[in-house]
Amino acid sequence: MNSFTKSKAEVRCSECGGFILSNADLVVTWRWFVVRPFHRECYVEALRDERDFFVGNHIINSWSGDMTARASLVLAPLLALFAYAAYGPLGALFFFAACLIQPAVRFYSWWRYERHLY
Ligand SMILES: [Zn+2]
Repeated sequence: MNSFTKSKAEVRCSECGGFILSNADLVVTWRWFVVRPFHRECYVEALRDERDFFVGNHIINSWSGDMTARASLVLAPLLALFAYAAYGPLGALFFFAACLIQPAVRFYSWWRYERHLY
């Protein structure tokens, strides 16, 4: 089975357009400010390629992506508490919402791509 064989989930690589068949071969990151899936090899090629400046170097579906999302969840109420003391309720809301961006992106990556693969 090659990368162009159709999978059940139809997760397609943002670089080559081929089907991604397993979570082990999936890298989810930013490209042009949009969350995109890549094959592992295509991601490396995209990072090395000088013409594609907007491929992110933070892998969302990695151990570091998981830890960043969890840390943001833990820090959100603490930061909101400090922001409330310093800036009032609007500041608290802003910092709380900002802390939830990373977990939301991590959840989106799982929902959109990872849950369909093995
Ligand atoms: Zn690819």
